Amino acid sequence: MTVPTQALLLRRTPFGESSLVVRLLTPDQGRVDLVAKGAYRTTSRFFAVLDWFHTLQVAFKPRAHGLAPLQSASWEKRRKQMTGLRARYVAGLTVLELCDVAAQPGSPEPQLFKLASRCLDHLNGGVLPADLELLIFEAHFLELLGVAPALMHCASCGEHADTPHGADRVPFSAGSGGRLCPTCARGARRSGRRVGTLPIQVLEAAHSIPSMVRNLLACTLPDEDLVLRIRDLHGRYLDYHLESRLRSQQTFLGTTHRNAPERGPAPSFAPPYNPA
Ligand SMILES: [Zn+2]
Repeated sequence: MTVPTQALLLRRTPFGESSLVVRLLTPDQGRVDLVAKGAYRTTSRFFAVLDWFHTLQVAFKPRAHGLAPLQSASWEKRRKQMTGLRARYVAGLTVLELCDVAAQPGSPEPQLFKLASRCLDHLNGGVLPADLELLIFEAHFLELLGVAPALMHCASCGEHADTPHGADRVPFSAGSGGRLCPTCARGARRSGRRVGTLPIQVLEAAHSIPSMVRNLLACTLPDEDLVLRIRDLHGRYLDYHLESRLRSQQTFLGTTHRNAPERGPAPSFAPPYNPA
């Protein structure tokens, strides 16, 4: 039976002389690999349709083994502005790469599809800088994967983790699930876990920014350095949980830890009153 579905292109690889193997993210079928026969020919109905960031309408007959042919593909929603701006383009590719890592063949991914589509909409025509959009996507992505780091409470005992008076850094351990209170941090260190520290401003902003209304956020844009520090936290946390570094993150995380103590205090962010 032919399955019509929405799709986002995750990967495309030349196949034979004129075809492409495409990997798609679909809401109902999860990740799907298909062969688009003759897609490289300019006369092909797939030529130019199979491009990054657009929401596609595709049809194919699922097969138990081997690659099923893509029967039709058209644009449901084009996101043309993405390709003109490098930061948005790179952020968009990171979103697609994260979806590729998270999605499984045959397992429906309606929430991931919705999350990725929304982020691409905002990257295409939104009010926020690309890095900030990516930060928001990563936070919701970690939540969807069930590995969101504890930011305001202790990951181990669940208590609200108070900041010791005068301290600007608090214990944090990816292996323990995020922020730790001083008692649990000592316990984790004793049991041989790696426990570092992160600036409290970074954790507080990482907690508040993703739930804020975009228009409010646009009025009080967080400092660029703070955004990069939160993305650094997300990136290294994802690294830990995915156990491999994404291609798109290699350069970003190849630099020294943006939250290392020698980088000095982090800029703070005071969210405006959020009526949502
Ligand atoms: Zn604790």
